[in-house]
Amino acid sequence: MTILNIGSINWDRLYVVDHFPGPGETLAAKSASVGLGGKGLNQSVAIQRAGGRVRHVGAIGEADAAMRAAVEDLGLETSGIVGIPGSLTGSALIVVERGGENQIILDPGANARIPAEHCREQIVRLEAGDRVLLQNETNVLAEGAALARGQGVGVVLAAAPFDAALIWPVLPDIDLLAVNEIEFAQLREAGGELPNHLSILVTYGARGASLITPSETINVPAIRANPVDTTGAGDTTLGCFLARLDAGEPADLALRYAMAAAALQVQAPGAATAIPHESEVLALLDQNAH
Ligand code: ATP
Repeated sequence: MTILNIGSINWDRLYVVDHFPGPGETLAAKSASVGLGGKGLNQSVAIQRAGGRVRHVGAIGEADAAMRAAVEDLGLETSGIVGIPGSLTGSALIVVERGGENQIILDPGANARIPAEHCREQIVRLEAGDRVLLQNETNVLAEGAALARGQGVGVVLAAAPFDAALIWPVLPDIDLLAVNEIEFAQLREAGGELPNHLSILVTYGARGASLITPSETINVPAIRANPVDTTGAGDTTLGCFLARLDAGEPADLALRYAMAAAALQVQAPGAATAIPHESEVLALLDQNAH
């Protein structure tokens, strides 16, 4: 079973400052770092480290050899990632002040220019049992969902950043929707009837997660953690949950694995690179079983 992840890829540029700069102010950062991110890339890494099979489809700046090398270093196959002439790789400028508050400026860059034909070519090669995974950080959300539906494979959507006008129209093509509790509230506030076939994975931060299917609701608590950086926790949860489901685990066990993976991920700085490997997650689950 393959998960075709049509997903965003970003450089995360993180600056730690004493306070947010005011208008016209220039500020020296206390520390600065560049890391890998983008919801799509985080999810691909999570799937792969949880033992799943993922094929990442996306776009980066044509001249960005460093990103291609970095994705390869993560152990992901990069032939589905196209270079877009005249575009920069997507990026997030993240400013964190001493109290832990952050401000983020996002440039979608090449994530907003994934050629639809490229997605089509990848989707038509999928077989029964495969899935397509999408987020709302690329230009091919609606088209990708419709093509995947037409191909008869499962379609999963991480509905962030949440935009009711974009998310509601694609829901008929989605089998599993992943949201955090704020996005879940926004979804319900927007009104309308959810499709009968839809399952929803809701994460509640330190309180855990629920899987709501048409026939049952499974609640799984989080595993206690001392978070240092929660960026990518939701992506870790979703990627791990899908990988374990595809490995044949029942949904409650797959979700338990995802909670353990997320508990480890929030205790390390960074997004994609903080996602734990299977052996670390199994060790934590084992520890918690006694
Ligand atoms: P992000 O946008 O930062 O990726 P999110 O808002 O999508 O995160 P959350 O609901 O905050 O997702 O967290 C996802 C999962 O991560 C939770 O279900 C939980 O398993 C784990 N998690 C997050 N915060 C904590 C915490 N403080 N302690 C333990 N686990 C946590």
